[in-house]
Amino acid sequence: MTAGSGQREKKYLGAVDLGGSKILSVIAQGDGRRLAEDRRSTSAEEGPEVVLDRIIVSLQTALAKAGLQPGDLAAVGICSPGPCDIDAGVVRSAPNLPGWQNVPICQYLEERLGIAARLENDATAAAVGEHVYGAGRGCRHLIYITVSTGIGGGLIIDGRPYRGATGVAGELGHMTVDLHGPLCGCGNRGCLEALASGTAIAARGEEVVAQGGSALLARLAQEQGGLTAETVARAADQGDIACQGIIRRAGYYLGVGLASYVNIFNPEVIIIGGGLAKVGDLLLGPARAEMEARAMPEALKAMQLKLAELGDYAGVMGMVALLREGATA
Ligand SMILES: [Zn+2]
Repeated sequence: MTAGSGQREKKYLGAVDLGGSKILSVIAQGDGRRLAEDRRSTSAEEGPEVVLDRIIVSLQTALAKAGLQPGDLAAVGICSPGPCDIDAGVVRSAPNLPGWQNVPICQYLEERLGIAARLENDATAAAVGEHVYGAGRGCRHLIYITVSTGIGGGLIIDGRPYRGATGVAGELGHMTVDLHGPLCGCGNRGCLEALASGTAIAARGEEVVAQGGSALLARLAQEQGGLTAETVARAADQGDIACQGIIRRAGYYLGVGLASYVNIFNPEVIIIGGGLAKVGDLLLGPARAEMEARAMPEALKAMQLKLAELGDYAGVMGMVALLREGATA
């Protein structure tokens, strides 16, 4: 073997977003350019061991598409839902991932791939992704809120991700906005998530159908064999008054939440991502109006409300940014 032929420079980064329904793996260059990706179903019901194996297969598939091998990676990063011990590389628990209790995911990836691995909470990773590559470029203080089935979030304070004492900071969906409101998945009553998430909108839609309040929504639900927040949004878009009311009410509660974040954190930008951001002005108009009516004028002065730019790449791009930072630290 001639000198130098066996040693390729390790300049590529691997990033994985582990979600309740899908796994997204990306291979990127050091400058953040994505070279290849792999998407597949998590099939989380098969348990952690099978899912861990699937993560490796997904990464290897993305690597093969880029014409690379695990040895070409400088590092791999993974983001997971739920509380994570990022120093130990352990997923403490993960909603929507049955059986995930204290899973030492970094150790597993390092043993299987032979490269250093880093773990982050998915919403914090998404906040970092939007901060470095998306709608929050150039900002020092930003809040990222994702509104989809649930409501999650991540905080960037003074240019750094803020994780709190036990890595749970940024649970923006679990702020109480109605003392006597509906029960939330977290066990509390009247959380923002219980009033403004996709699940909450769908539940209100079911109530309206049961009360005979919208013939259009009832027909759409029957055609689809059930209804989701998207069904309610579709009916609202077609002029259904009851469904417009449901979306506006969710927007109102979202604005109540946003006003408190503005007063507490005094951010330069709040970035709204997640599937429901696509509903647009019908949801975000009332949210903005309520935020502006409630927040302190001084805190609002320099604040911009923006839509997320990276879509479902926010998490993996956040991991790429964190790995790059680790490489230069
Ligand atoms: Zn809650």
